Amino acid sequence: MNSNNEKKELLSAYLEKHPFLQEIGQLHTGAEAILAELEVEDFSLPSLSTYAEDFKQGIPLLQHADFQVALGNPVENVMRKLIQGLLKKNVPEALKGFCRSLEGYLANNAAAEMIGYVLCQEEDSVRSFCEKKGLNANALSYIVWLAVSQVLVTLEKEKDEWQKDLNWDRNYCPVCGSLPVLAQLKKKNQGRERHLVCGNCHTTWHYKRIGCVCCGNEELNTLRLLESEVEPEMRIDVCDECQSYIKTYLNEGKEAIYLADWTTLHLDMVAEKEGLKRKGNSLI
Ligand SMILES: [Zn+2]
Ligand SMILES: [Zn+2]
Repeated sequence: MNSNNEKKELLSAYLEKHPFLQEIGQLHTGAEAILAELEVEDFSLPSLSTYAEDFKQGIPLLQHADFQVALGNPVENVMRKLIQGLLKKNVPEALKGFCRSLEGYLANNAAAEMIGYVLCQEEDSVRSFCEKKGLNANALSYIVWLAVSQVLVTLEKEKDEWQKDLNWDRNYCPVCGSLPVLAQLKKKNQGRERHLVCGNCHTTWHYKRIGCVCCGNEELNTLRLLESEVEPEMRIDVCDECQSYIKTYLNEGKEAIYLADWTTLHLDMVAEKEGLKRKGNSLI
């Protein structure tokens, strides 16, 4: 993984060549800069080994209520700091208004309920909660998942080893259960293996190289690739069986750009024009 400075340089060079991404880029890089400086207060989570048996059965971590509850406080802390940081940044006024309202709800002990809905991925509950409170549901999910991924960074090593030892090979995220939004092909011995990326919590995991990541279809006559002249390091893997697609980064070294999802929105537009759908959760 690149250091923070390298990441910044890579991204700013990329944004110069992609002026249409400047505005969304400002938001994401701004939030990341806040997170990079932010100290996560000490917290304790249940040991991952507690869930080994369920994990082998394909049950993601966040389906365990006690794990979810334990994440609540650290996530709330990160959210508060993130919001304070965003309010000081040059971000769109609508987002500032959202941050101010959210800050108010956090101060009124509404955090546990709000974070719970998002982590359970109960979209209807998130939406109706937000409607009642006058909050933007997408912005709320964005902030909560950013905070979750920041908290999970502190577990990264344990999580990676655990995933590898227990050999997670499902098409959904081992942490939150969401379908992936991106894939990456990484060199392994003489060939390459595929890794998937979760759009919610940013966990990555290994998955078989061939086949649709959404429906499992392996018929080569209904799987195809859309190459991109604009982004030669990326391609779009299409499944005509379930009409889905996933963006795939073909190299290594520029993960900060190509695994960030919002950086390749123009590829999503190409796929959508073809009537294809992304099945993984999208926070952009
Ligand atoms: Zn996830
Ligand atoms: Zn499919």
